[in-house]
Amino acid sequence: MKACLLKAPAKVETNPLEFVEVPAPEPGDGEVLVRVHACGVCRTDLHVIEGELPPRESPVIPGHQVVGAVEKQGKGARRFALSARVGVAWLHKTDGTCEYCKAGAENLCDNPQFTGYSVNGGYAEYIVAPENFVYPIPEGFPDEQAAPLLCAGIIGFRCLRLSGIKAGGRLGFYGFGAAAHVAIQVACHWKVEVFASTRDTRHQKLALELGAAWAGGTFDEPPKKLDAAIVFAPAGEIVPAALKALKKGGVLVLGGIHMSAIPSFEYDLLYQERVIRSVANNTRQDGEDFLRVAAEIPIHTHVQIFPLQDANRALNALKNDAILGAAVLRVSE
Ligand SMILES: [Zn+2]
Ligand SMILES: [Zn+2]
Repeated sequence: MKACLLKAPAKVETNPLEFVEVPAPEPGDGEVLVRVHACGVCRTDLHVIEGELPPRESPVIPGHQVVGAVEKQGKGARRFALSARVGVAWLHKTDGTCEYCKAGAENLCDNPQFTGYSVNGGYAEYIVAPENFVYPIPEGFPDEQAAPLLCAGIIGFRCLRLSGIKAGGRLGFYGFGAAAHVAIQVACHWKVEVFASTRDTRHQKLALELGAAWAGGTFDEPPKKLDAAIVFAPAGEIVPAALKALKKGGVLVLGGIHMSAIPSFEYDLLYQERVIRSVANNTRQDGEDFLRVAAEIPIHTHVQIFPLQDANRALNALKNDAILGAAVLRVSE
């Protein structure tokens, strides 16, 4: 099969992914083989490819927002019919036995495996995944539009949940990429007022088009104090600015898997019971709940499509803020 392979982490400007022919995987017990139709490009892929996340498997095929069709069932795999349209996301597998899994927090599993990081991902014509970690994709979303729902969408949804925001509340978004452009649609559906802070004026414009009450630069103070805010951008210097925008008791959620160092700040910014918390991965329940809500709304993702062999170009565009919405690789029809 054709695949984009990362042999060793390197800056994306050096085009580190090699478009090569590799053997297609075989589904093991309880796994399905999925023929990939489309795979979303996530900021986490950038962190994996550039080595900001320490390598877990090398060489590796990146990509964890996979939409495709079940091509083959491994031994004992019965959940999906052949040709069923399915999604494969970041959480490839958990041990199911650690204290976190037992407590319903499998996103914090002590022994997790991640798609496109510790096992091969979806920048390829085929992928295997345990059927119990695969999602049915609701009808109504074309493949390319469904792909960004699988990480940007699910993680954005978990960020919304952990922010505790309620109808009538005011919510800040810092950074307005793939996750934010989906999360704003859920927030508006929940009757939440959104304030978008992002450095790129094209992203500010998209935020307003999608229903933001206000959009401004990353360090511009929103016109009203916020009940909660989500930082999607991987820049630690945003944290003090976002804290400053919160009301007393406000919650700041950090949505990224990687962030540059957070500068020190006066205790006053945190005092009055403001809270900072990170978001790590998601549970399957988050994914199932989100996909249901996404179909109900229905969410419309803005996608910029690249052929599989142009993955390096897509990653460079993402790094340079040149993607409006989400980048998606088209792999096959
Ligand atoms: Zn576990
Ligand atoms: Zn992701």
